[in-house]
Amino acid sequence: MRTLAVVGGGVIGSAVAWCAAEAGWDVTIFDPAPGSGASWVAGGMLAPLSEAWPGEGEALEFGAASLDRWPRFAARIEAATGISVFVAAETLTVALDAADAADLRTIAEFVGEHAPLTHRLRLLNRAEVRAAESGLARTVRAGLLASTEPAVDNRLLVGALRQCCEQVGVHMAAEAVETVDNLDFDRVVLATGAAAARLWPGLAVRPVKGEILRLRHRPGAPPPPRRVIRARVHGRPLYLVPRGDGIVVGATQYEAGFDTAVTVAGVRDLIADAEAVLPALGEYELAEASAGSRPVTPDNLPLIGRLDDRVVAATGHGRNGILGVPLTVDAVLALLADEVLSEAKAADPERFSTYSLSGGSR
Ligand SMILES: Cc1cc2nc3c(=O)[nH]c(=O)nc-3n(C[C@H](O)[C@H](O)[C@H](O)COP(=O)(O)OP(=O)(O)OC[C@H]3O[C@@H](n4cnc5c(N)ncnc54)[C@H](O)[C@@H]3O)c2cc1C
Repeated sequence: MRTLAVVGGGVIGSAVAWCAAEAGWDVTIFDPAPGSGASWVAGGMLAPLSEAWPGEGEALEFGAASLDRWPRFAARIEAATGISVFVAAETLTVALDAADAADLRTIAEFVGEHAPLTHRLRLLNRAEVRAAESGLARTVRAGLLASTEPAVDNRLLVGALRQCCEQVGVHMAAEAVETVDNLDFDRVVLATGAAAARLWPGLAVRPVKGEILRLRHRPGAPPPPRRVIRARVHGRPLYLVPRGDGIVVGATQYEAGFDTAVTVAGVRDLIADAEAVLPALGEYELAEASAGSRPVTPDNLPLIGRLDDRVVAATGHGRNGILGVPLTVDAVLALLADEVLSEAKAADPERFSTYSLSGGSR
C-alpha cells in the first residue's frame, strides 16, 4: 500500500486524508493540534456568488465548482457519521445605502455573466427584503438573494471529518513537522494553512487575521435569521451566519502576522455593525470571541498542485477554505493519481515564481 503523509489536520488536510484513505492510501496526519486553526474559527459560509466581483472570474469559477460538489460531499459525511453540517440554505446580502445597492447590481450582473445558470442571483427591493427577514433594520433598502448559497457549521464539520478519518484508519501523529524532507512517505500533502510557507519557503501564502464572535440566543430574544445575512457597514464587511443555538458574527480583516489575540476594537466594531443590521442581536449572549489566520494568496485563489515529485500543496484558501474543501479533495486525489483536474487548474502554485519547483529552495 502506498503511504501518504498529510501535514496539517484542518478541514483541508483531514478531508484529503479521509478521501485518500478511502481511495486506498495508507494515510498519516501530522498535526500537534488538529482542527484548532482557521477551520475552527471560521463562519462556515459557502459564498462564491455573494463574494464575486468583476475581475475575479477565476475565483468565482473555482468557488462555484466547489459549491456544486458540497451537497454530495455533505451527504457522504452524513452517511459516514450521521452528522448533517448544513445550517442555512440561502444567503441574503443587504444594502444600507445607495452605493451598496449599486454594488449589489454589479455583483448580480457579474454572476449572471460568469456563473453557471443554476446560480442566478435575485435583486430584492425594500419590501421584499423585509418580507424575507423581518428582523432587519429599517435602514436596509435593497437586497441580493443567493438561493443556492448555503452555510455549514464548520465546527461540526471539523468533528465529523475527524470521525470519518478514524473510521477509515487514518493514523494521527500529534507532532509538528519541522521539514517535509524527513517524512519517509511515498507522497506528502502540505495542508498547514497560513503556516505553509514555513515548511516551503517562498510559497505565496500569508496569514490574514480575522476576528469573529459567537452569540447565543436567549429566551425571549427574537430568533436568529433563517438565512446567512451579509452587509457592508461603514465600509466594513459583515456577515451573520445562523447556528442551532444562535449566530456567528464575522469578521474583521487585518494584516497582523500570526497574531490571534482578540482586540477590543475588533469586538466593538463587530457588535456595532451587527446591531446596525439586526438590532435584536443586542439581546443575545456574547458566548465567544476568537481570531484565526486565513491562509491568503496574492490573487485569492488557493495553491493546489505539485511542488516537486513527492509533495503536493493544498493551501492558500483564504476567506473560502470551508467552501473549497470538496473541490480541493478532488483536485488532490487527481494529483496523487498523476492527473490534473481541469476545474482546479487555476489554483496551480506554478503561477507564482517565488519558489522553484522540483526540489527547490526550501
Ligand atoms: C475569522 C474567519 C472567518 C472565516 N470564515 C469563512 C467562511 O465563512 N467560509 C469559508 O469558506 N472560509 C472561511 N474562513 C477561511 C477558512 O477558515 C480557511 O480558509 C480554512 O479553514 C483553511 O483550512 P486549512 O485546513 O487549510 O487550515 P487550518 O484550519 O488553519 O489548519 C491548518 C493546520 O495545520 C497545522 N499545522 C501548522 N503548521 C504545522 C506543522 N509544521 N506541522 C504539522 N501541522 C501544522 C495547524 O495546527 C492546523 O491545525 C474564515 C477564516 C477566518 C479566520
